[in-house]
Amino acid sequence: MADFDDLLAANRDYAEKFDDGGFDGVAHAGVAIVTCMDSRIEPLAMLGLGLGDAKIFRNPGGRVTPQAMEALVLGVHLLNVKRILIVPHTRCAVASNTEAELRAKLAESAGQDASWLHLHVVDDQVRALAEDVAKVRSHPFVPEDVKVGGFIYDVDTGLLNQKV
Ligand SMILES: [Zn+2]
Repeated sequence: MADFDDLLAANRDYAEKFDDGGFDGVAHAGVAIVTCMDSRIEPLAMLGLGLGDAKIFRNPGGRVTPQAMEALVLGVHLLNVKRILIVPHTRCAVASNTEAELRAKLAESAGQDASWLHLHVVDDQVRALAEDVAKVRSHPFVPEDVKVGGFIYDVDTGLLNQKV
């Protein structure tokens, strides 16, 4: 049971100062972000946003998967989302390795066969981003007036570069 003690201790400090009970769950800045799970990305801070401002969906690569799309549809219709940013990033593991390379790394780490694992690698990041943006824009539950942009986040400069 001690595995999470440090984090739970930090959480008690957090809760001590916590002042946002009863806050609603809509996106107050009207923003939704789909981005990578990468620990170098701070989705709110990089956009000058804070608690309550945005809906955030993260996965390896920042891809518009069916679940990401589900989150965006809910965001647009029920949670005040007016602008959607799709944000993959530089030096992303799923965009800089082939599926075979990632499988080999996993096999080595786990000490077992990984050939059956399906990994969603990206071989052309900008093309994949354009496809993901198109997927969102053309979704029947995403109205025309919702703005959708595709950006690459540079983990070495902190800058977002709009590509789509
Ligand atoms: Zn990544």
